[in-house]
Amino acid sequence: MPLSRRRTLTQYLIEQRRRFPGASGELNALILDVSIAFKAISRAVAFGELGDAAGNSISAEGGRVNVQGEVQKKLDVISNQMFVATAEWSGHLAGMASEEMEHPYQIPPTYSRGKYLLVFDPLDGSSNIDVNVSVGSIFSILRAPPDVVESGRDVTEADFLQPGATQVAAGYALYGPVTMLVLTVGNGVVGFTLDPNLGEFKVTHPQITVPPDTREFAINTSNSRFWEPPVKRYVDECLAGSTGPRGKDFNMRWIASLVAEAHRILMRGGVFMYPRDTKDPAKPGRLRLLYEANPIGFIMEQAGGRASTGRQPVLGVKPSTLHQRIGFVFGSKNEVERIERYHHDPATREAANPLFVERSLFRD
Ligand code: MN
Ligand code: MN
Repeated sequence: MPLSRRRTLTQYLIEQRRRFPGASGELNALILDVSIAFKAISRAVAFGELGDAAGNSISAEGGRVNVQGEVQKKLDVISNQMFVATAEWSGHLAGMASEEMEHPYQIPPTYSRGKYLLVFDPLDGSSNIDVNVSVGSIFSILRAPPDVVESGRDVTEADFLQPGATQVAAGYALYGPVTMLVLTVGNGVVGFTLDPNLGEFKVTHPQITVPPDTREFAINTSNSRFWEPPVKRYVDECLAGSTGPRGKDFNMRWIASLVAEAHRILMRGGVFMYPRDTKDPAKPGRLRLLYEANPIGFIMEQAGGRASTGRQPVLGVKPSTLHQRIGFVFGSKNEVERIERYHHDPATREAANPLFVERSLFRD
């Protein structure tokens, strides 16, 4: 097989670093560590029910005893351990936070501490594991507050509560038919494909952009009776197609895996909505701000798309807790802006808007 001339992730990062002559290379080293975790998780996912190299049986649920009489390990937990093990030793991190850990993770005293914070969702869409549908991992890199770096003290939850606009880098891995890494270091969005022969991520999508218009939307319609009026209006107008106010037909997609949805939209446009709804007033949205909405939002904006709570840019939201949930709408710019307009339109906000009621395809 001829050796491909495509650039590797390492080469790409070295080129990016040349933009900042003073940069120490720590960010590059950290991103490379994360990419090693991605490779390890990719292998664990690829072996499925066969289990890992150590003979451990793995499943989405975990705890089940399989036909060999082995207790299965939960893949989310294993993926979290892989992230921690590949990133904690490097000296570049002041601390970590993850969907799988209630509290921030402290870098053990045996290792030195650095200036970045790593936040991640080690396995996104894990309910899709047992049905062999694409899953992924998501990460976000923030700067640790100056006093953390100076003192080397333990990190607290408050240190992580920074708006998404402050992210230094963000990315995801998608474990699909091929394993991909999609990355932004604040200079556009680049896609890498894992070369299974060399075990290297290589640049295959040098400049990913989201088209501003689309005829494709993604939403969990089983929640439609809980939607707020602006979301109902938007979806109703999509469903009305060429006979409605939009004057064109739409298609719908729903994979139930955030990374896979984001990836589709980066490849060909579309709009994704998991809006705030009235289903459970205690949960203002479904997705997590720090390790789902912020990194995916940063990537979308860097690709020329838009990421929103439905009301305002998601990257401007000051987080209040580590595991905060939020309404999340992203994708093709003109569609996301339309959804925001509907949220700000006083007539649409009123559920009793006669135009809306007349057209609603979701009336109870
Ligand atoms: Mn997730
Ligand atoms: Mn997860």
